[in-house]
Amino acid sequence: MSLSDSLRAHCPICGNMELQRIPGERVDSYFGFLWSRLSIPAYRCEPCRHKYFSIRPLRAKEAKEQAKEQTKERELAEMASSK
Ligand SMILES: [Zn+2]
Repeated sequence: MSLSDSLRAHCPICGNMELQRIPGERVDSYFGFLWSRLSIPAYRCEPCRHKYFSIRPLRAKEAKEQAKEQTKERELAEMASSK
């Protein structure tokens, strides 16, 4: 792992960097409500299912792709709700 990668969000258990942004309420953490209030991003690690909060940003590539996906999801949700 390179130095710049270690500054990015990665799973503290398995080191996976393919993290999923999730809503803060989904993290089962004692301070979860507080972090989501503070808009601290929450992540989920797919391989080990660890959910946690991190102030470290995702790698630009993933963040961009997820933003694109979220836009798509929002559009689909809007389409579904307008029916
Ligand atoms: Zn993990």
